Amino acid sequence: PRVLVTGGSGFLASAVIDTLLARGYSVVTTVRSHERANQLRADRPGVSPAQLDYAIVDDIARLGAFDAAVQQSPPLDAVIHTASPFHYRIDDLKRDMLDPAVNGTVGVLQSIHKYAPTVKHVAITSSFASMYNNPNKPTGSTYNEDDWNPVTWDTALSPEHSAGQAGYRTSKALAEKSAWEFVKENKPSFSLTALNPPLIFGPVKPNTSSLQNMNTSNARFVEFITGAVKEKCPPTGSLFWVDVRDVALAHVLAIEKPEAAGKRYFVAAGPFSNVELVAFIGESFPKYKDLLPSGEALVPGQYPKGGPPYKVDNSRSVAELGLTYRSLEEIAAQPNQNRRDVPEAF
Ligand code: NDP
Repeated sequence: PRVLVTGGSGFLASAVIDTLLARGYSVVTTVRSHERANQLRADRPGVSPAQLDYAIVDDIARLGAFDAAVQQSPPLDAVIHTASPFHYRIDDLKRDMLDPAVNGTVGVLQSIHKYAPTVKHVAITSSFASMYNNPNKPTGSTYNEDDWNPVTWDTALSPEHSAGQAGYRTSKALAEKSAWEFVKENKPSFSLTALNPPLIFGPVKPNTSSLQNMNTSNARFVEFITGAVKEKCPPTGSLFWVDVRDVALAHVLAIEKPEAAGKRYFVAAGPFSNVELVAFIGESFPKYKDLLPSGEALVPGQYPKGGPPYKVDNSRSVAELGLTYRSLEEIAAQPNQNRRDVPEAF
């Protein structure tokens, strides 16, 4: 079968592509430039253009941007849409986040609906950001697929929803809501599945050439091991984590399993705290010990206020997709061998 993966230059997409190739799929991926496409090829020297091809889509914020990419020969069987901005440097929420996230998602669905009738399944990368429901969620309660970020188009530009991390979360929530609305209104012949991972850790993409251009979710490890926050462990800021290889597999299972049609999946390994990550790095990679933040007890499993504030219910992904979740120890046990200039902690 042939699958289109959008945003092939990304951290998650890189793992999705490798998972698809390992399972025998033929992959086409969209990237913004020929330079990025050449890099993808160079990263996978044994892989032929028939196994991994690319299409240039330079601006996912433009509706119609995917029209040509979805019309492939041989034709596509499924699409996995991962491309979306993931950073917290927002000057203009609409331009920097909402347009690429929402138009990118609705745009790819529109293009498939119009021009790619052979596509049977579409999986989109949503996020825990689309589920995050603070402060309405009582501490100690459990997150599952019934949870929704309450942001709407009317509240998106309010200060609580528009800046920094909140602005990113708004883009993901409105993108997923728009995708489900598209399906409801247009009744396309493909099925839709949303994957909702929390913060993703794990092996970086092969072309990560320096610690400076680390992807957003792995950036905190860079701060820890370079001594940038040595004086004090920064507040955790996120609730849950998951390994990139498990999220990648979840996307592929979502296009393979009929029961995934029309559903969202909270693909989360569990809660974490920065204190716990620092302790884990110190134990697994003692050479960084002197650079790690100090000042708090470094005991694995320990959380600043006595325990994780919320629980994870990932049972739908376990029961229906058959996922199992890696532990933090498994990241350390399988270090990246081929990554240039990046410590083996990744
Ligand atoms: P990356 O930044 O590594 O990848 C983002 C991808 O999207 C890149 O291929 C990037 O292209 C592309 N992209 C971003 N903005 C645009 C744009 N305006 N036009 C065209 N392409 C664009 O992030 P991740 O791999 O971590 O994220 C992938 C997906 O996973 C996103 O949808 C993100 O929201 C979601 N996600 C990520 C989590 C995480 O912790 N990493 C957690 C939950 C969800 P380029 O390389 O050219 O910049």
